[in-house]
Amino acid sequence: AEASLRQSQKMEAVGQLTGGIAHDFNNMLTGIIGSLDMMRRRMADNRLDGFERYLDTALKSAERAAALTHRLLAFARRQPLDPRPLEVPAILQAVAQLVSHALPENIALGLEVADGLPLALADANQLENAILNLAINARDAMPDGGELVIAAGRAEPGKCPAAMDHETCLRIFVRDTGSGMPPEVLDKVFEPFFTTKPQGQGTGLGLSMVYGFAEQSGGTIRIDSAPGEGTTVSLYLPGTFAVPPVEEGKAKVQPKGTG
Ligand code: ADP
Repeated sequence: AEASLRQSQKMEAVGQLTGGIAHDFNNMLTGIIGSLDMMRRRMADNRLDGFERYLDTALKSAERAAALTHRLLAFARRQPLDPRPLEVPAILQAVAQLVSHALPENIALGLEVADGLPLALADANQLENAILNLAINARDAMPDGGELVIAAGRAEPGKCPAAMDHETCLRIFVRDTGSGMPPEVLDKVFEPFFTTKPQGQGTGLGLSMVYGFAEQSGGTIRIDSAPGEGTTVSLYLPGTFAVPPVEEGKAKVQPKGTG
């Protein structure tokens, strides 16, 4: 099955934001208020024994609330893209390095990069974040272990957006052998704040951010998934075979005789 997001669905999703945020945030505040309240009562009784535990709970809740607002702000801000020609193998290598530290021993990590790829035209930070998000989702879908592959190749015919030059269109994808998704989940995955993860573990912002990144880059995102068989999430991005411009840092080196 393949998922795509219609604009109307997206607007609907945005309409659900307020309730979702308020709910999560309220849970976090409840943790903070409850802990502070217990501390005040104990202080009145001159009992300081459980203090550290309550402080820990309050602190953890506050940190989670801060992380949520942080992500919300990043999402709302939609940091401007700075598309540049990028060496895909190097980017994937860097992300795989990061991901390897976040994997349990029962998940094998593979890297499959085709030869002769065009350079990707994308924002380096956001591309790395996007792949990282996909890899973390893949990890989370394999609680009993499995295989996670981060890969890049040329796009298959017909998969790139029509406006894109097929010759230079790249496919960067993350494949897992995890739980897969039933159609009713697949229908909703790009909605901001949609998550099936336990409370406090998922924000439901990952795929909506990756979706935004792909579209803003002039590309698209596709998901192939079947329950029990695993999931492949593919980013189709514009690329180029043109030689990248000299980096700013290198340009500062003056040729002999001019200085
Ligand atoms: P979050 O990871 O915080 O839940 P996402 O937007 O990244 O938010 O993902 C939304 C939901 O999509 C997840 O909760 C999960 O149900 C589903 N999902 C995403 N990636 C995968 C995957 N690789 N395998 C199975 N389910 C996935």
